[in-house]
Amino acid sequence: MQSDIAGSPAMGEARNGKAAYRPRTAIIGAGAAGMMQAIKLREAGLDDIVIYEKANEVGGTWRENRYPGVACDVPAHHYNYSFEHNPGWSHRLALGGEIQSYMLKVADKYDLRRDIVFGTKVTGCRFDGRKWHLETVEGHLDTVDFLVAATGPLHVPAFPRIEGLDDFEGAKFHSAQWMDGIDLSDKRVGVIGSGSTGTQLIAALANQGVDLTAFIRTPQWIFPLPNRRFGDMERKIVRAMPWIGRAAGRFYGWFFEHVFAEAVIKNGWQRKFLSSMCKWHLGRIKDPELRRKLTPPDEPLCKRMVMSTAFYPAVSRRNVEIVRDGIVRATEQGIVDQSGRLHELDVIIFATGFDARAYHRPIELTNARGESLTKVWEGQTGAHLSVHVPGFPNFMLVGGPHSPRGNFSAIAYSEAIVDHIVKVIKFCAENGYHSIEAKPEALDEFLQKVKSAVPSTIWISGCTNWYMDENGMPETWTGTPDAYREILREPRYEEFKLAR
Ligand code: NAP
Repeated sequence: MQSDIAGSPAMGEARNGKAAYRPRTAIIGAGAAGMMQAIKLREAGLDDIVIYEKANEVGGTWRENRYPGVACDVPAHHYNYSFEHNPGWSHRLALGGEIQSYMLKVADKYDLRRDIVFGTKVTGCRFDGRKWHLETVEGHLDTVDFLVAATGPLHVPAFPRIEGLDDFEGAKFHSAQWMDGIDLSDKRVGVIGSGSTGTQLIAALANQGVDLTAFIRTPQWIFPLPNRRFGDMERKIVRAMPWIGRAAGRFYGWFFEHVFAEAVIKNGWQRKFLSSMCKWHLGRIKDPELRRKLTPPDEPLCKRMVMSTAFYPAVSRRNVEIVRDGIVRATEQGIVDQSGRLHELDVIIFATGFDARAYHRPIELTNARGESLTKVWEGQTGAHLSVHVPGFPNFMLVGGPHSPRGNFSAIAYSEAIVDHIVKVIKFCAENGYHSIEAKPEALDEFLQKVKSAVPSTIWISGCTNWYMDENGMPETWTGTPDAYREILREPRYEEFKLAR
């Protein structure tokens, strides 16, 4: 039986216990979002859960990104679960290893490992009209009622297409696939890319005295947020009075979710303030030639803002050369730039980012009509509220298309998505609905909402970035994170097709 509107008479019967059932939910990915989803589902009593994780440990991005200098660019006291505040952060911007330790502690405290199947790469998920069937290359893995992709929006490394790269005789790897144990101290190292990752990596290698060539195609604006180390006394005080850390987290939450978000989406004091801070920061580079090389061609906030006070002093060091002439090709010995110069290198590191539209991929998701989600999304990605894809019932994403991508705590906004998913599954379980699917018109309305905000954003000033498509449609939410939380807060079941 299918119902378009919640509250139909049949629901009453179900509420009386007739059709309620205990759903099984599979979560893919044991990163920050997948772990939180598991914790919250269990808390709601929906404890028939399993997490499939391709690696052998939890932590997602913080397990994988081990490059020198890796840190979070959102202040630490704002970058933790609301229900598991960490008063012990050592720096304003927590270092990657420290965040990974936090993830391990949370996994232990909530005994998450008992529901995680490690070392299992899900390759396909097929919906049969009622249940999702999960597969690995070895064959059938599991059958579940609900499927949550907590695979992270940025998990598939993007590599530059450079002619001759295969001929290069040195080591080459992506920043997210760090070659553990490699000693760069006696090597000539080239880093390609200067986004959030490249900036952290270049600064760290430069300060280690590595012989470094940074290939920067487009310099980015850098907001001067110092990564201060908290003193021992300061940390003792925050541990003794954790409300101080929470208050700091709330302040940073306000600053990032309002000042940064509003600077992107409207032309007010926030944009002027952040722009002038970035321009002042750039102006502090004394060498005019270096300053010219590092001057971005676009407006501050066009790309996701980079946070650092370490980068400019680091690249001013003698062991660093910034190359702005584009890369033409690679050879056995190194990289040739547009001026024809060969930069001889022993190692090339790609800090070239991620495929911003990978989402569930490389997992192949197929609905009951045999349609693949990858194909459906070929022209335009889209999920109602960034979570529910029409045509793919009982499948939900954390961090899907048009979820926030700005300078915010991914943990903080993911919590709203995770809570929303818990509500949806609980509603279905209590009311005997075995299938829930967003209506296409609900998605259209959501996408219209995202699109209608574009004309007042900074992005119309002539920006290029990894989250805009060629038609000017951003892959990110175009409001504040608070507005996003608001649309997720109470699921509107009239926007869904429900079936028992
Ligand atoms: P990114 O922002 O996409 O930057 C990629 C860089 O590589 C850009 O400088 C880009 O230049 C360059 N590039 C790409 N292809 C190139 C080519 N063929 N030749 C030359 N240069 C090329 O990637 P990311 O720095 O890894 O950051 C991605 C996202 O990860 C961030 O925005 C953030 O969301 C997240 N992140 C977060 C943290 C954190 O602390 N929380 C840290 C690192 C990353 P163009 O600009 O010219 O394309």
